[in-house]
Amino acid sequence: MHAFNYHKATSVSDAAAKLAASDDARLLAGGQTLIAAMKMRLSAPSDLIDLGGIGELCGIKVEGAKVTIGAMTTHAAVAASKELAKAIPALARLAGSIGDPMVRNMGTLGGSIANNDPAADYPAAIVGLDATVLTSKRKIAADDFFKGMYETALEAGEIITSVSFPVPKRAGYMKFKNPASRYAMVGVFVAQTTNGVRVAVTGAGPCVFRVPAMEKALAKSFSADAIKAIKVEATNLNTDLHASAEYRAHLVGVMAQRAVTQALEG
Ligand SMILES: Cc1cc2nc3c(=O)[nH]c(=O)nc-3n(C[C@H](O)[C@H](O)[C@H](O)COP(=O)(O)OP(=O)(O)OC[C@H]3O[C@@H](n4cnc5c(N)ncnc54)[C@H](O)[C@@H]3O)c2cc1C
Repeated sequence: MHAFNYHKATSVSDAAAKLAASDDARLLAGGQTLIAAMKMRLSAPSDLIDLGGIGELCGIKVEGAKVTIGAMTTHAAVAASKELAKAIPALARLAGSIGDPMVRNMGTLGGSIANNDPAADYPAAIVGLDATVLTSKRKIAADDFFKGMYETALEAGEIITSVSFPVPKRAGYMKFKNPASRYAMVGVFVAQTTNGVRVAVTGAGPCVFRVPAMEKALAKSFSADAIKAIKVEATNLNTDLHASAEYRAHLVGVMAQRAVTQALEG
């Protein structure tokens, strides 16, 4: 790995100031993606700003119809929260399905969504639940946050501080896991909310996307049967060594039906 300067930030404003002081600085969360990229020399920042010591970025708050999760909250903490398991069980289960124990104990909500890996789980929950991403500069609606493969609406110097999730009436998440990494080959998050039904798909395309035909059908009748006949086009879906676009398109239908069944079962 190349030489770099290490800074431990003490607050969000301290991290923002340190980030602004260098053109080539990067924020460090749990290092699950960034350190690996640096070891492979795919990334060579001059400065790393460690968010690990900032208490205000950690924790889960359940307040009535809203759940707020700090950007530095680990997947393990989200999976273990009893309050969250009551408010949005599908979200707690999603966090518990990420990677392996080491990844869950080090990886963070903020790091995951800033990275926006096409196979990451959280983007499906954030879009499916119509969450809001809060940053050091502004609030960003879920539908505006994820822009493309590894691309988000974040601007230079912007730090994710938390994500705010409205509590749905019911929700479910099902993924077909890559057996080696446990990333989603296809993952579908379905939520029934006071504003209608949302269906968000991760792993299948370059970036999380919604399926309006399924949302419409589920708004009329919230049952797995209601979406059984809806086919997703393979055009624009990913083909790689794990699965073809056609297979992924098929999995979207299967995982969506299973997510609805999970949502109904609670
Ligand atoms: C073996 C393995 C298996 C995995 N399996 C899964 C899986 O099944 N499902 C899944 O969803 N994910 C999976 N992951 C990804 C993992 O969950 C991490 O969330 C992801 O790697 C990001 O890591 P991190 O949170 O430590 O962030 P880092 O690696 O520290 O940072 C990632 C990027 O985000 C930026 N960043 C970090 N925090 C912030 C912030 N608050 N504001 C703005 N930018 C920020 C950093 O600058 C960097 O560019 C896996 C990872 C590994 C290594």
